[in-house]
Amino acid sequence: MRELICPRLCRYHKPDKPEEVGCGGVLWLEARSHLEGAVAKLPPQPGRGLYGLDADDPRLLAVCRACPYRAEGCDFRDPGVPPEACEPCGGLKAVAGLLATGVIQEL
Ligand code: SF4
Repeated sequence: MRELICPRLCRYHKPDKPEEVGCGGVLWLEARSHLEGAVAKLPPQPGRGLYGLDADDPRLLAVCRACPYRAEGCDFRDPGVPPEACEPCGGLKAVAGLLATGVIQEL
């Protein structure tokens, strides 16, 4: 699942530094391997794009609330970071894509 999400959808991906923990979106999707095919079909979203979903969609907020990186400080969810200076991680984009295309309805 990480290979489908991180290199293609995440601006923060560092190929030489594999994520040890994983963001909230990746962790949620890793527990649902039957969604791999649908994730693979998601086109990359530039910038802050979340496939048309609002960043404050309660389902996306729930993913971020459970994210291990949130406590360390995620720029995208930090109200002190200007929107133009950050974008959502690939895991959140992937969950948003599946919600927006109706592959999943709820978390
Ligand atoms: S946008 Fe930030 S808080 Fe939300 S899942 Fe990604 S890294 Fe975690």
